[in-house]
Amino acid sequence: MTNRIAILGSTGSIGTSALEVIEHLGPPCRTIALSAHRQLDRLVEQATRYRPATVAITTEDIPPAIVAKLRKLEIAIYSGPNAMVDMVGRDDVDTVVVAVVGAAGLPAVLAAVEAGKRVALANKESLVVAGSLLMPLARKKGVTLLPVDSEHSAVFQACRCGRAQEIRRVILTASGGPFRSASREQIENATLADALKHPTWRMGAKITIDSATMFNKALEIIEAHWLFDLPPEKIEVVVHPESVVHSMVEFVDGTVIAQLSPPDMKTPIQYALTYPNRLPGISRRLDLTKPTCLHFEPPDMERFPALKLAYRVIKMGGTAGAALNAANEAAVQAFTSGKIRFPEISRLVETTITQHRFQADPTLDDLLETDRWARSRVESLVLSGGSGFPVIDSPATQMI
Ligand code: NDP
Ligand code: MG
Repeated sequence: MTNRIAILGSTGSIGTSALEVIEHLGPPCRTIALSAHRQLDRLVEQATRYRPATVAITTEDIPPAIVAKLRKLEIAIYSGPNAMVDMVGRDDVDTVVVAVVGAAGLPAVLAAVEAGKRVALANKESLVVAGSLLMPLARKKGVTLLPVDSEHSAVFQACRCGRAQEIRRVILTASGGPFRSASREQIENATLADALKHPTWRMGAKITIDSATMFNKALEIIEAHWLFDLPPEKIEVVVHPESVVHSMVEFVDGTVIAQLSPPDMKTPIQYALTYPNRLPGISRRLDLTKPTCLHFEPPDMERFPALKLAYRVIKMGGTAGAALNAANEAAVQAFTSGKIRFPEISRLVETTITQHRFQADPTLDDLLETDRWARSRVESLVLSGGSGFPVIDSPATQMI
């Protein structure tokens, strides 16, 4: 059976790995569509190498030279804010890999599910914002959301060892990020360069900062709640600095099933693309002939308040996830452009969740409105600087 794959966010870290995996798998897998936001030269390089039928470009102004190069390759171009949504509905798309960062990926995820495509989902933010709409839609359309996030891929695989009602709890592993052993004072004074030094994973900038605040794990707790239909008390987090055990599922009889592999996103990406089958992979193998220690320790909810917020947001439901996600995206943006200090990210998110106009049973428009409001609330709190979120005056460190 053909597997013509669209990669949304092909120019990013997950998107690039997905392209490598598809090239490795070979037919019947084939890259049919790509998408980019700002890195258009990179998109042209990818298009030249992988020859998709079509691309989506979501920025407003596309330089004529880019259009000319793509036309020369006879590639159809979707452009503008709806480009990804329009592209995923095409008849020649079988599978959609959603590797866009942030809530910007949500409309395309909804469109792919609505069109009944196979969806390999890296974009956890769309579930955090709109899991309450996405999961019922997926069930209605008979679409399985195949997790790309390594923890959720691990849980998804472990879940195959038992029935849903036999799950006692899910244990998500967390590397702990660059500040795992940092004191409160060190975290207070962390610079952008410190926060970008992830010990085990090489990822896009936003998720790297999310790993430092542990908002990444917070988003993942909420992602697990939606994907596996679990109440908050059945989702636990354990810090595991080696990032070899990607998560575990404990069943009612006391058996714990874990999934292990060296930290490389190509492994869960490939599983999402070949599921339910397994094919030879391209990632490094786990080598237990060398002395290996695997450590586990409880997370510190005081130094990393993001984790507590995740449980609070699941209990609140409604618009709370949209408020958390948008506030976090805006706060990360403020931090990376040097406007706030590192610990203010968590404080801004908490304040925004508390202050937002909560709705228990939101429509998509309500969620998008919450997203807009939360971003502008964070921006005004950052600008005012006097609401307990002091603006730092040192020059902004550039993103790397
Ligand atoms: P990157 O920042 O490396 O890539 C993001 C991609 O999204 C790029 O292709 C970028 O385009 C595109 N993009 C950015 N903004 C927009 C927008 N407004 N509209 C459309 N496209 C946009 O991110 P990652 O690959 O690291 O992460 C992607 C997703 O996967 C995130 O949700 C992340 O949480 C998740 N994830 C990532 C992991 C990793 O190891 N990196 C692990 C697990 C999950 P361009 O570059 O052209 O501007
Ligand atoms: Mg993850």
